[in-house]
Amino acid sequence: MSGSQPALTFKILAECGVSKARTSLMALPHHVVETPVFMPVGTKATLKGLLPDQLEAMDCQIMLGNTYHLGTNPGPELLTKAGGLHKFIGWNRALLTDSGGFQMVSLLKFAEILEEGVTFESPYNGSKMLLTPEESIKIQNAIGADIIMQLDDVVSVLTTGPRVEEAMNRTVRWVDRCLEAHGRPEEQSIFPIVQGGLDENLRRDCVKQLTQRKVNGFAVGGLSGGEAKDDFWRVVNLCSGLLPRDKPRYCMGVGFAADLVVCVALGIDMFDCVFPTRTARFGCGLVETGQINLKQKKYALDFRPIQEDCECSTCKRYTRAYLHSIVTVETVACHLVSVHNVFYQLRLMRDMRESIKIQQFPQFVRKFMKNMFVDSEVPKWIREALSAVNISLT
Ligand SMILES: [Zn+2]
Repeated sequence: MSGSQPALTFKILAECGVSKARTSLMALPHHVVETPVFMPVGTKATLKGLLPDQLEAMDCQIMLGNTYHLGTNPGPELLTKAGGLHKFIGWNRALLTDSGGFQMVSLLKFAEILEEGVTFESPYNGSKMLLTPEESIKIQNAIGADIIMQLDDVVSVLTTGPRVEEAMNRTVRWVDRCLEAHGRPEEQSIFPIVQGGLDENLRRDCVKQLTQRKVNGFAVGGLSGGEAKDDFWRVVNLCSGLLPRDKPRYCMGVGFAADLVVCVALGIDMFDCVFPTRTARFGCGLVETGQINLKQKKYALDFRPIQEDCECSTCKRYTRAYLHSIVTVETVACHLVSVHNVFYQLRLMRDMRESIKIQQFPQFVRKFMKNMFVDSEVPKWIREALSAVNISLT
């Protein structure tokens, strides 16, 4: 794209006068993204069951591709020849790629982390392979996403002891190797990843070190791995408070609607998760009270759409009864429910952005939580998280 434009500019449009929520324009080479934003995950740069055209039609502004899958197949050489992933898959808007490290550690049996990089056994021929910070950036430079992620040292959030500190410090060393290896800094922004598990001092130290680097945005990593929700929100709140106000903050792996609302209140701008499309494959549609499982018999004669006021192409044309009749039989059912679920997430983010602009975000949060927990108490962690940013639910 244009050589004179920086790879990312971030302009805050409005800030909630009560909580830490804000809405911004994040200008990337391929698209100006409105935040807070949810990024659907396309494993091989296609969302399971959705076409780029459909995503554009529902105003999806940025999506995420997995470097591990793309780096193996089609691979960096082919992607370079194809002119990058945008061209290859026909997606003209913004893209973000992960580093590939998390996928390796979570998917592959014999992954091992050394100072040099992540060693693993090739799932194709069993040979020993090594993903270094330099190699991860080389692949991500070939893919050409607008935002790329540093390779980080991934530990389970439930790990304790010296390993957490080692991983945090190695993550900082690796970000320097990534920045050094970066071949396209005018077109792509590397986001470093704040690590440090559930340890407040390590998180503080990590933010302090990472904010000394010249980067355009930051991610908070190592969460959504089975930790208590009470720990989750406290780490998010701590990190968002320490990270600079004038750069985007991305909380990795968050996608449940209630979590998105809480994290926006805590000052997070970007999210990604496989949840909306994964749950669609199990026949579950997202609604304002959570999700409904369309496989259940009670939907056999339910002639309402998945959600009554939804404007997605699925809800305009199809009933719960129809979806129930095909949901485990026909692949088109997975497609139709995925369309709705991604639309639901995008609409939720749009509604939050609008409410922040007109200084109605706390009211939005109260209404959202009332609907989501219509039959039950709002969980204590949500009350406490919101109360930490001055939003009371009563
Ligand atoms: Zn819908």
